Amino acid sequence: MAKAIYPGSFDPVHNGHLDIAIRASKLFEKLTVAVYDKPLKNLMFNTNERIEMFSESIKDYKNIEVVPFTELAPNFARKINAEFIIRGLRAGFDFEQEFEMALMWRNLAPDIDVVCMMSSLSYQFVFSSRIKEVAKLGGKIDNLVPQLVLKNINKKLI
Ligand code: ADP
Repeated sequence: MAKAIYPGSFDPVHNGHLDIAIRASKLFEKLTVAVYDKPLKNLMFNTNERIEMFSESIKDYKNIEVVPFTELAPNFARKINAEFIIRGLRAGFDFEQEFEMALMWRNLAPDIDVVCMMSSLSYQFVFSSRIKEVAKLGGKIDNLVPQLVLKNINKKLI
C-alpha cells in the first residue's frame, strides 16, 4: 500500500477535514497530515496549536501522523516518500482551484499524483474561515469541530 500526504492550513481543523483524513487513512498504508507552517493568511492559531488540535482529534488512528511543512506540497511528499497528495472537494466551488493546483503540481512533480475525495454531505458547507466568523459572532459551531477546537476557539475569543 502507498503513502499519502494531506496538506492544508487547518486553522483550525474541523469535522470536514477529519472526515477526509479518516477516510483517506483507510486507503493508504500511512497518511501524513501536513500543516502548512507559513500560510499567506491571517491565522487564529500558530503551527504548534494547529498540529496539536489535529493530532489530538485523530489519536485513535495509528496510521495518521501530523507534522509541519513549509515547502511545495509535492516536494514535501517526495521528501517523506509519499506518492500521493490528498485533497478534499466541497460541492462545486473547490473544483476549479484544486484542478488548477493539481495541474501545477503535476507539472512540477509528475511522479506525485493528486487524489481528490468528495466531502461528505454534512460537511459541504464547512470552512475554517466561516467557522471562525460564526464563532466570533456568537453562533453555535459545536457540531462542526472537535471539542478541543471548540474550547480553543472560545479561549481566543475571550
Ligand atoms: P479551509 O480553510 O478551506 O477549510 P485548508 O487549507 O485547511 O482549508 O484545507 C485543506 C484541505 O481540506 C483542502 O483540500 C480543502 O479543500 C479540504 N477541505 C476543507 N474543508 C473541507 C470540507 N468541509 N470537506 C472536505 N474537504 C475539505
